[in-house]
Amino acid sequence: MKKFEENIRRVEPYVPGEQPAGSNIIKLNTNESPFAPSTMVQMAIASMMPEDLRKYPDPEAKALVKEIASYYDVDESKVFVGVGSDDILGMSFLTFFNSDKPVLFPDITYSFYDVWAELYGIKYEKIPLTDEFEIDPKKYKKENGGIVFANPNAPTGIALPKAQVEEIIAANPDSVVIVDEAYIDFGGETVLDLIDKYENLLVVRTFSKSRALAGMRVGYAFGSETLINALKDVKFSYNSYTLNVAAIRGAKAAIKDDEYFRNLVDEITKTREETKMTLKKMGFDVLPSATNFLFAKHESMDAKDIYEKLKEKDIYIRYFDKPRIDNYIRITIGTKEQMNALVMALEDIIK
Ligand code: PMP
Repeated sequence: MKKFEENIRRVEPYVPGEQPAGSNIIKLNTNESPFAPSTMVQMAIASMMPEDLRKYPDPEAKALVKEIASYYDVDESKVFVGVGSDDILGMSFLTFFNSDKPVLFPDITYSFYDVWAELYGIKYEKIPLTDEFEIDPKKYKKENGGIVFANPNAPTGIALPKAQVEEIIAANPDSVVIVDEAYIDFGGETVLDLIDKYENLLVVRTFSKSRALAGMRVGYAFGSETLINALKDVKFSYNSYTLNVAAIRGAKAAIKDDEYFRNLVDEITKTREETKMTLKKMGFDVLPSATNFLFAKHESMDAKDIYEKLKEKDIYIRYFDKPRIDNYIRITIGTKEQMNALVMALEDIIK
């Protein structure tokens, strides 16, 4: 190792799902929307002038913050936006988890949480999900330096009822509790209305799934002014201009087209339930999902095998080679046609 290399920060990065190129591929591996965003998004971007691009964007993305605040009936001072919810979550780890006590999160959850904790040198403890893969609020009643979990959880898809989410928040007034609601539009109960009751609650959301804008990279969060101001201070200590002009405009337009949004969510949740029934008939044990994906294991066939054989047929799903879940596959809900193709491929593989 060369001398200069000794000072390099070494981290084990998060590994996102593959983004294969090719038009024949059925991509059910990263929980994107199978549908295009609202045409209003395209129009908003197309109406940009060179002048809009010459200047820096508004560092506070006020136009977007205002739109989100008004849609969700929350004060603008309680809204924060970022480059996808990953940006907000990463920044939140840096901002709120500044204690010697460990941050708590489930053993099976979004696998970026331990990556951020490692990156920032934050102590953490993984709290096991129950045997049914549920979050047990009782296990979050111990000393900690913060709490973060996804609800509905990923990659399980299971939602924790609101009363139990509140039980966790109420039991932890001395730490910041982050509820990652990336998939909340597809099911589950939000705790958004609890941000006024609990000053230590941050609710994080994204445009990537239900609003079909993963490529645009826009996330948003709700919390007390205390939390939002702290986030802003850290953001302005790192990168003032997070959201670009197109992202601010596009996301704003996506919020405006509410009917389109509701139709997309409806279609995806219907397809999810149909696919779930079909998979069950094929010998899969499918966990109850409140998201735009299904988490399932087959009664006889190995999960990794299924994943690899589907890939040979140009169908990409997600497989996690991790304890407790290495016999499960995660399937993003696509269009009805894509799901039919998946089922046909699975029938072929399983026989
Ligand atoms: N939270 C969870 C639970 C997720 O699954 C994802 C998607 N990978 C994210 C946050 C991040 O999504 P984005 O950065 O696209 O908003």
